[in-house]
Amino acid sequence: MKLPPGVSASDFAAALEKFAAVVGKEWVFSSQDDVDLYRDSYSPLWHEEDERVPSAAVAPDGVEQIQAIVKIANTYKIPLWTISTGKNLAYGGSSPALSGSVILDLKRMNRILEVNDKNHYALVEPGVSYFDLYHYIQDHKLNVWIDPPDPGWGSPMGNSLERGGGRTPMRDHFASVCGMEIVLANGEVIRTGMGALPESKTWQQYKYGFGPYVDGMFSQSNFGIVTKIGIWLMPSPEAYRDGVVSVPKHDDLIPFVDTLSFLIDSSVVRGTMLLDSPLLSYRASQGGSVLDMPGGPTVAETEKLGQEKGLPYWSMELHFWGPPNVIDAQWEYAKEKFSAIPGATFKDGRYYHFPMEVKDTDAVPWVALGIPSLSVFGLIAGGNGHMDFSPIIPMQAEAVFEVLSAFGKAYADLGIEPKNQFFSLPWCFFPHSFVLLFGFPIAHDVEKNRESRRAFQRLVEVAAEHGWGEYRTHVAFMDAVSNVYSFNNHALRRLHERVKDAIDPNGILSPGKSGIWPKRLRQQRA
Ligand code: ADP
Repeated sequence: MKLPPGVSASDFAAALEKFAAVVGKEWVFSSQDDVDLYRDSYSPLWHEEDERVPSAAVAPDGVEQIQAIVKIANTYKIPLWTISTGKNLAYGGSSPALSGSVILDLKRMNRILEVNDKNHYALVEPGVSYFDLYHYIQDHKLNVWIDPPDPGWGSPMGNSLERGGGRTPMRDHFASVCGMEIVLANGEVIRTGMGALPESKTWQQYKYGFGPYVDGMFSQSNFGIVTKIGIWLMPSPEAYRDGVVSVPKHDDLIPFVDTLSFLIDSSVVRGTMLLDSPLLSYRASQGGSVLDMPGGPTVAETEKLGQEKGLPYWSMELHFWGPPNVIDAQWEYAKEKFSAIPGATFKDGRYYHFPMEVKDTDAVPWVALGIPSLSVFGLIAGGNGHMDFSPIIPMQAEAVFEVLSAFGKAYADLGIEPKNQFFSLPWCFFPHSFVLLFGFPIAHDVEKNRESRRAFQRLVEVAAEHGWGEYRTHVAFMDAVSNVYSFNNHALRRLHERVKDAIDPNGILSPGKSGIWPKRLRQQRA
């Protein structure tokens, strides 16, 4: 077992005993078998000394128990790594950034405190999963949809705090957060926004309260333990439909993205879309690459291939939710706008009216219908998992072109074959920008993982050279990513760490999270 840095075996044992006195012996886990369950199943550091492993775990059942645990952690300087359901796969699972941390596992706190289908929100505890919330809404016949991520076994708490995304119009999960309750490192409980008003009637209806809006400080951070979160939901729509727009040529992407951006910002097109390239996917399937590799086929050659095979260079499935007459009009309007691109073609897709009976075996787009699913696991090749490289890039065609050539060149310079099956063209998870989700394969093979890590590190640097930064990263790369957010000699990180030292002077909460290290452990920064 790896102890937390600077903590003696006897202090560690004393702390675990005190934790047990608070939560009960059965909710403190320190046997190797139990602790192994908190390791990252997709660790890029498998079988290496540097794998981020916890020392133990403690699972409280309520806010008062958390307050007592925090007090003990302060006394013994035990780092606590908070998780909700710990399913943050591709970004570290339930493993900590600092080996030896004790996992503060909140999955026992799984109460759904309110679901309101008149104002469309929910108030939940950390251990509530998307499946739990979905079933609760179904069982109570409430008129709201949730927005699960892919896959849907994690929690609204963990995914929203990590600023994850789903597929429906509520796709930007942190943007849907309204009101939090937080235990600070000194044990004090705060409520944000309108929740600071003791008799508040609008904690989940109005985000900002009075004075500075601090909720963002508790996302992707180590400033507090969030114990309740309000999230906005979508009223159950009457219908859903989708359709595909395709354009034939490379440069068509310029007016295509301009039109897309206009339609998204005008709220005509909503939800999450993925840019597709049937032509580049075909090129990759023939042993080429989605990326533009130096010395690879030119644009003219690729377009010629497209003509021969009847494949468009670019396409995108658009989704619409709402009353049938509204979504029909939205699709017609989108088609009208994209028709300005010569050669644009359109294909009507699925059309569903709600309520609708869905069987497990139906081939429906589960997540876009607000139904949590694990089916994404069936799509991921390789078997041993992946870690995600997820830079934000401008919502502009020129940026997509630059990505394809810059990352192609980076791979060529590294002498590594790009693993195209894991490369995605841009997603629209967030407004005004694109995000790439590039899955680096993980193996139970130290050399292969080293190669993946070398490529990952280089891509972080190449991205930064082009002005692109990751929206979220694996625990093993938090320092690497934080290192490139360096404007004005790391002024933002220095502010984060000044705040950290002020509100968590013993540095007990999730040290190293998002590259934020408390003073006591700052030498751990990679
Ligand atoms: P999920 O429940 O979706 O599986 P996790 O529990 O894995 O998500 O949480 C993802 C990350 O978010 C954690 O590694 C942690 O850094 C942060 N986090 C999760 N829950 C909390 C919380 N209640 N308070 C503070 N940070 C949290």
